Amino acid sequence: MNFEAFDCVVIGSGPAGLMAANILEKNNLNYLLLDKNNFAGRKLLITGGKRCNVTNIYNPKEFIDELKFKHRRFLYSTLSKYGTQEILEFFNENNVELALEKKYQYFPKSSKSSDILNALLENIDQRKILLNTTVTDITKENNSFIIETNQKDYITRNVILATGSKSYPKTGSTGDGIIFSKNLGHSFTPFYPAETHVYSEQVKKDKEFLQGISLLDCEVTIKGEKKAYSGGVIFTHFGLSGPLIQNISELIYFNLQNNETELLIRLTTKNITEILEYFEAKENQKARVIRIVEKLTIKRLARFILKISNIDETKLVANISKKEKQTLIENLLRFTVKIDRVENISNSFVNGGGIKTSEVNPKTMESKLVDGLFFAGELLDIHGPIGGFNITMALSTGYTAASSIRRKDNA
Ligand SMILES: Cc1cc2nc3c(=O)[nH]c(=O)nc-3n(C[C@H](O)[C@H](O)[C@H](O)COP(=O)(O)OP(=O)(O)OC[C@H]3O[C@@H](n4cnc5c(N)ncnc54)[C@H](O)[C@@H]3O)c2cc1C
Repeated sequence: MNFEAFDCVVIGSGPAGLMAANILEKNNLNYLLLDKNNFAGRKLLITGGKRCNVTNIYNPKEFIDELKFKHRRFLYSTLSKYGTQEILEFFNENNVELALEKKYQYFPKSSKSSDILNALLENIDQRKILLNTTVTDITKENNSFIIETNQKDYITRNVILATGSKSYPKTGSTGDGIIFSKNLGHSFTPFYPAETHVYSEQVKKDKEFLQGISLLDCEVTIKGEKKAYSGGVIFTHFGLSGPLIQNISELIYFNLQNNETELLIRLTTKNITEILEYFEAKENQKARVIRIVEKLTIKRLARFILKISNIDETKLVANISKKEKQTLIENLLRFTVKIDRVENISNSFVNGGGIKTSEVNPKTMESKLVDGLFFAGELLDIHGPIGGFNITMALSTGYTAASSIRRKDNA
């Protein structure tokens, strides 16, 4: 047992834990940052295709509006204190130039996630980062926490749990924080997959036609639901992927719990009147139907749409029956894809679920149940879409948790 009592022990060196350590260092607190890996920020390095989409342009209100979970207002206070603007300032002060992409996402100009990690590490006393240190248990006795690890045990007045979710467990994020929190009396929503792809035997079966097709801006509805979502969809060898599918994957996941889930994909940007005009135009009557369908959707899909509509592609437009036209239009406007499953939590970029935010003070990230226990990052029941939302939330909550911890003499 190391009998030195720390002001704080931070568990996890992801963006949440690293930002927390920056603040504890700045506030001159006696702390340690523990991680089971042999280097810090392992997941951070692989983010954004190793380019790290570290934040985005949104103010707290706009940011929260982009999130899907019900209790998203939990984040309002922390994002108002430390949001995208403050994150931009942090990296600017630490000499990382950020570049705006797609008008809303920030990446390091160098396209190297290591620049983001190095900036987060730069101001931390490296002696305070203990690597290869796996926390195995946390207990509270009187006013102190005992942190048991595979190396030594530590005593601390405060703990920041920043152990992440269960996504990409090979990066060290194995959901351990849930077990520690549960033992300390907290409740949680089990992790579930988010921001990931989906599997479809139906697409797989027709992969000779579909694989590799990328629809840049299409509309998708989950059958039985009213809302239509728009964005990019990619047909893959196993099913569907792309930004739009990733974005709604958690909705598909929940839909699959109770239903046979089908997605209705709009394969044309034309509306029904425009489609009919193509079929009725005098100059098109002698054209082969495939030539017209190629104009209504992307060229590679035309043959497939005619196949599923049972229409001979060499048939002339003039000879298409009313019923055939109806089927064709239905397939163009509402191509139905049966989804079998969503990728599992381990392979999902992000996990929904985590420590229930109703048990955490949104202004400090401190547990409402256990004094001195703080939470930060993806371990909390917060998550967002692709686009720098998740790292922003991790940095913001890490900042708020660490800023709420005072030195013993000031406590
Ligand atoms: C492939 C991929 C790409 C992504 N790209 C982006 C992106 O571009 N932009 C974006 O905003 N988000 C992105 N994300 C999501 C983002 O990486 C996470 O939301 C973010 O890393 C969460 O930060 P965190 O600090 O909460 O936890 P993590 O980064 O998961 O860090 C948790 C740390 O805790 C440590 N730990 C766990 N248990 C213990 C224990 N018992 N003892 C000691 N240490 C422990 C782990 O080793 C790990 O280092 C991506 C995710 C993935 C998987």
